Amino acid sequence: KLQAETPHFLILPWLAPGHLIPITDIARLLAKHSAAVTIITTPVNAARIKPTIDRSNAATAGNISLVSLYFPATEVGLPEGCENIDLVPSMPLVYNFYEATKLFSQQVSRYIHERAPRVSCIIGGMGYVWAVDVARELGVPCFIFHGFGSFALYCSEILHKTKAHEVPASSAEPFIIPGLPFEFKIAGKELPMHFHQSKENKEVGEEMRSYELAVDGILVNSFEHLEPGYADLLQKLSGKKVFTIGPVSVCNTKMLDMEERGNKPTVGTHRCIQWLDSKKPNSVVYVSFGSTGSFAPKQFKELGLGLLASQWSFVWVIKDIEKLPEETLIWLRENFEDKNSSRSLLIKGWAPQIAILSHPAVGGFLTHCGWNSTLESVAAGVPVVAWPLYSEQFLNVKLIVDVLKIGVSVGAREAMAFRGDKEDGISVRKEDVVKAIEKLMNGEEERKRVAQLKEKAEMALEKGGSSFLNLESLIQFVAP
Ligand code: UDP
Repeated sequence: KLQAETPHFLILPWLAPGHLIPITDIARLLAKHSAAVTIITTPVNAARIKPTIDRSNAATAGNISLVSLYFPATEVGLPEGCENIDLVPSMPLVYNFYEATKLFSQQVSRYIHERAPRVSCIIGGMGYVWAVDVARELGVPCFIFHGFGSFALYCSEILHKTKAHEVPASSAEPFIIPGLPFEFKIAGKELPMHFHQSKENKEVGEEMRSYELAVDGILVNSFEHLEPGYADLLQKLSGKKVFTIGPVSVCNTKMLDMEERGNKPTVGTHRCIQWLDSKKPNSVVYVSFGSTGSFAPKQFKELGLGLLASQWSFVWVIKDIEKLPEETLIWLRENFEDKNSSRSLLIKGWAPQIAILSHPAVGGFLTHCGWNSTLESVAAGVPVVAWPLYSEQFLNVKLIVDVLKIGVSVGAREAMAFRGDKEDGISVRKEDVVKAIEKLMNGEEERKRVAQLKEKAEMALEKGGSSFLNLESLIQFVAP
């Protein structure tokens, strides 16, 4: 039962692992700061986060409620249970998925009006453009959670304001993002999909923008030291309240929490740790491209050849393995599992990422630079090899490699379609992979700098730290 003075956050996580995972941590942090939270999601997603929520409730007097509502996947031609973007079988079906989320939204809205307890604030996931209307009807503030960092959000805001992004999605011609303290050139090809002016994206992009313009504020999973000044710049340019409250993954200190981040691991934490225990400190590269990043066969093999040609051991997380042809699977078995098993640990599915990154043997992370992976790497003090694939990842790479200097780039300049549904070409060569890995693993500077940031990350969430105080201000801002 809600006390009259307790602020109650209604959270609507966008149905993608990169959103569901940090938003679950945000809920736990709010509960730790004595707020009440209700998360509304679908049955499949609720099952993924329930164990974590249950443990958090045991520790914080049951402040988080989890509500799951029916998701109409089959009604729009998706397989049953396809309730998260990482379960969508192929690129064209992504549009069906958006359709289903719209139908789902109607149910959520009905639930909020008819059955939800008194609400103080709505935190709406990126695609829930209607969340702000519901908040208006209830007379409460609405915050958006994009999952992006402050730098990427600031760049996006500049692009909107200057209309500099109105270039074809296919354009490889770099243009300057104006208004930054340094020169940053980016091409249409490297911009997030919702900027692209194609027919399908235009409507989604316009809806998203009107949502961004209507909200009362922006929640950012980041911390002051990581992106100094950018949250303020974003606040000024957008005219919205900005609260940086991360890195939220730092609340996962228990092994079970590290393991169960949004999915059951394919190779258990215990086995990963055991394998890593046999390696020297900073001698392993962790290779993973987020919850949905995968490659078509030629690029996949080229990456594998690069890993083999480097001198280091590696944990390689492979998604969509069922899409690879038989001959690639045979090659994988012969060259990794048979010949190089002491040097390579393959995880064909979901990996316990935080547990792996936290192990002292891991000295580098070859990553697509999704924002959660970036923060998790920083929080673990692991420098990165940056291989962006899509969304705002090319913006993140600029921050990681040129501004913070905690990583080395493989030189990827071309966005890939979602889930590797792309022509079977090679854009990053084996030599580029080897060069970047060797440079990072043999270098000291990136490692030193990221170790300093790791300390600052922990401090941000401790009592009196910047993110801790921002969480308190957020709660005060919405308090009834
Ligand atoms: N993740 C994980 N195991 C995996 C793949 C991903 O635990 O095998 C987690 C990862 O720790 C991060 C999230 O999923 O919290 C991925 O978010 P990110 O922003 O890095 O990438 P996205 O999946 O959104 O592209």
